[in-house]
Amino acid sequence: MKKGKKILSILLAASVGVTGLIGSSTVYGAQKTETKQKYVVVLDPGHGGNESGAYAVHNGKVYREEEINWKISNYTMQALRKSQDIEVHLTKTQNETLSLYSRVMAAKQYKADLLVSQHINDSESSSPNGASVMISRGTYRPEIAAKEKLFGSYVLEELGKLGIRRRFPETGGMEYRMSENGSTYPNGQARDYYGIVAQSVEQNLPGVIIEHAFISSPSDAYNFLRSDAKLKKIAQADANAIIRYCKQLPEKTSSDTGNGSGEHGWKKVNGEYYFYKNGIKQTHRLLHLKSGIYYVDKDGKRRYGWKVIDGQTYYFQKNGKAALGWMQKNGHWYFFNATSGFLYKDIMLIDGEGKIYIFDKDGKRYDGWCTYKGNKYYIDETGSAHTGWIKIKGKWYYFHKRTAVMYKNCTVQNSKGIKYTFNSKGVCTNRK
Ligand SMILES: [Zn+2]
Repeated sequence: MKKGKKILSILLAASVGVTGLIGSSTVYGAQKTETKQKYVVVLDPGHGGNESGAYAVHNGKVYREEEINWKISNYTMQALRKSQDIEVHLTKTQNETLSLYSRVMAAKQYKADLLVSQHINDSESSSPNGASVMISRGTYRPEIAAKEKLFGSYVLEELGKLGIRRRFPETGGMEYRMSENGSTYPNGQARDYYGIVAQSVEQNLPGVIIEHAFISSPSDAYNFLRSDAKLKKIAQADANAIIRYCKQLPEKTSSDTGNGSGEHGWKKVNGEYYFYKNGIKQTHRLLHLKSGIYYVDKDGKRRYGWKVIDGQTYYFQKNGKAALGWMQKNGHWYFFNATSGFLYKDIMLIDGEGKIYIFDKDGKRYDGWCTYKGNKYYIDETGSAHTGWIKIKGKWYYFHKRTAVMYKNCTVQNSKGIKYTFNSKGVCTNRK
């Protein structure tokens, strides 16, 4: 281990793709002794990219929903970072256009305990105001709907402390809407209307939409949306609700201490390791023990090497422990979730210094030229996407300073007034 565990950091950089964060510390072979796992919360800034949300002008001030949503999500993330027990991710980057399905799948990929889509409401008329939370009616997986309702009640309480009115008092501020085109859940029951809500239920994770206030309401805009300081208050309210919600969840610990009844711990028989918990041989499951994460198969045998469990990929080392963080294998670099051990695949991750790493569908880190979600990158000798100028095989290329996306088909002017032109292949045609 290098230094202290530092899982979360900035997330304002990447240009495209599901974005995550790399802890700077955990490396292959690190001996983790963690018993407590963090709750994973994924924040979804509504709209953005090509998809602009609501828009309003009050007293000459322009309010854009996607900008407000983006700020609220980032402020919420900052507020949640103070909590030791919560790992937080965003579904998207600022200028990225992302389908509702991809947003839910991002949450799924992070193994989210909660997905929170953050929005501002809009109306044709200037009179509607206040907050509501859109949740599932519970026609399918009612236990998910119950979780959403509890979380929604916390959100509306916290927003209420800021003076934001609760809409739909008859449902406690919850907004239910069922599909109007006859679509159903796998159990044949009517499907919820809102994409984030219905797809979250289908992915078996609680996912809600918060409509914090009305952009179309002059009073909501003035009282709650007009400055960054006001948006920070909304974000803090969301963060408070998230913390309250996580606090009441069962502890995500993995205890390897028995209750005193029966055999407990590892047992070696004919060269194979088995794990007993209170006298019961554990089979076909991941074991989150104090010493690390292990896997025992259907016969209870400890397994080694690559393994796909519940659709997630793990690598169990010679000592049986799942690899966490970076791992180099057969000339490729892989990155595993630092606490849960699952392999990141088809993803762009950003570390605390803003360095961008891109992983293919098999979890292998890209090297050299790489195309990801339609954009071109160059992975340099550091293993991360190059930013700024670079000369490759005698030709100059330029990669965006922050997003690392290659410039092409454009002419740009630098601060000294010098113009550079990039062709369709990204080659600068006027720099030797
Ligand atoms: Zn919206």
